[in-house]
Amino acid sequence: MNANQENLKILRHSAAHLLAQAISELFPETLLTIGPATEEGFFYDMLPTTNFRDEDLPKIEARMLELANQDYPITHTEISKTEARKLYQNNPFKLELIDNIPGETVGLATQGNFYDLCRGGHVASTGLIKHFKLSGISGAYWRANRDGQALQRIHGTAFPTAQELTDYEEHQAELLKYDHRRLGKQLDLFSFHDEGPGFPFFHPKGKAVINALTAYLRKIQRTHNYQEISTPIVLNEELWHKSGHYQHYKDNMYFCKIDDASYAIKPMNCPGSALVFKTRPRSYRELPLKLAEYGLVHRHELSGVLHGLFRVRSFTQDDAHIYCMVDQVESEVLSIIENTNKVLNKFNFTNIEIALSTKPAKSMGSDELWAKATDALKNALRSAGANYKIQEGEGAFYGPKIEFKIKDSMGREWQCGTVQVDFFLAENFDVVYTTDNDTKTRPVVIHHVIYGSMERFFGILLEHFKGQLPFLIAPVQIKILTITDTQKPYAIDLKQQLEQVGIRVEIDQSSDPISGKIKTAQLDKIPWMIVIGNKEVENKTVTLRYQDGKQEFGISTPKLLADAEIHNK
Ligand SMILES: [Zn+2]
Ligand SMILES: [Zn+2]
Repeated sequence: MNANQENLKILRHSAAHLLAQAISELFPETLLTIGPATEEGFFYDMLPTTNFRDEDLPKIEARMLELANQDYPITHTEISKTEARKLYQNNPFKLELIDNIPGETVGLATQGNFYDLCRGGHVASTGLIKHFKLSGISGAYWRANRDGQALQRIHGTAFPTAQELTDYEEHQAELLKYDHRRLGKQLDLFSFHDEGPGFPFFHPKGKAVINALTAYLRKIQRTHNYQEISTPIVLNEELWHKSGHYQHYKDNMYFCKIDDASYAIKPMNCPGSALVFKTRPRSYRELPLKLAEYGLVHRHELSGVLHGLFRVRSFTQDDAHIYCMVDQVESEVLSIIENTNKVLNKFNFTNIEIALSTKPAKSMGSDELWAKATDALKNALRSAGANYKIQEGEGAFYGPKIEFKIKDSMGREWQCGTVQVDFFLAENFDVVYTTDNDTKTRPVVIHHVIYGSMERFFGILLEHFKGQLPFLIAPVQIKILTITDTQKPYAIDLKQQLEQVGIRVEIDQSSDPISGKIKTAQLDKIPWMIVIGNKEVENKTVTLRYQDGKQEFGISTPKLLADAEIHNK
């Protein structure tokens, strides 16, 4: 942490105390717990007598400002635990905190007649906390323990200058405006229902986007010799014991009964792929064998953390498993890195961070095997010309991995693609192939995804492009707008020709004037509009209009079809 970050943290933590002071004056019965600084600001967890509502925040903020204007010095003293226990005799949370602090004394921060248990690190007086904002209320648990006492968390942020706070608020407004949940509703793409919390419903237009993302990746997979499979969503529980998922992951899995036997809904696609591999003897000549699967997985998430398409309970992974020899890892990983960069660049993600995670303290497989696989990943990254950082010891116990992190147009980072080398899966499922000297040996398995969760990637794209999805994946790529109904037969013919080359196209059937039709298409964020009047019909041309209002006149049908096909690749 540099000095600036350290100071910001001190300011924000002090703002949390200021919030607690305001609360203790306005709602004296509230039990305070802890109030740390965070990456984005600060929060304070507390137990009120009646739950706070959003409407309370302005009132709390106003009191905070008054207290700031009083410019109380913030002092820090060490007091005996006996004294502290007396101060907090009615607050079981603070008493528990006191018990857990080593030593015989605890720190106490005091401002005016308010005090708070704290180990220190504050600004000198409340007057230095001027530019802050309370941003919301959410649920929390005491000590982040799901079975513990439910609390309320008030979030906020603070900055050293008014300008920084304004910039932050503008950025927040921007995020809210382009929130994918809002865009999803506005553009009729997807919905969520009480009947299936965390399970997204895709409407025709949303499904068209998912299909377009799939089609784009399938094309790349085909040219790289992937073979697509599909495996069941429900599989016997035994399989998940064997794979190790049950042991490590059962709290996030769903189970069901079929004919008295216990089954699990798959949280991952790997075991299914291994069963396909094992259906017949495999020779080294078949390697690398690449099995791709657009697999729907289900994972239990707490209802409190569900968040649109970003955090769901069922999602589709663009999963692939490559079964190969150790010597093939490098060239396979190089090809995956190239494909991943290609896909991410296609969607205007150019700021890609790559991290390589190496052997952790607890791991399986020999040091030699780890060294070989890790070197293969390093060589592949080097050959791809990739800058990467090393996360020493952060690999999974069953092999090293590469992670791709992207930055979107609003500056947020997302982890999407991963490449995971796995020495364990083949062992676990007794997967073997026959070598060139007729012995049996285990392949290395490379798990990889590029989009990660297709649903989440869709959500990221929506926000990244602010709803204006690129031509390739737009649900309706072209909208045909006729000036009057006279041009309808020409429009219908054009639509058919465009559909034949795989373009998603609609005709505006309304009786609106052309300006109204353009407005509608713009609101629907359609990338291309084709305007047809009598002149266009006569000359067998079209006028092409883009979202930004730019127009091209007199385009012939063959040229339009060729252009559309190019943009659809
Ligand atoms: Zn403090
Ligand atoms: Zn896998």
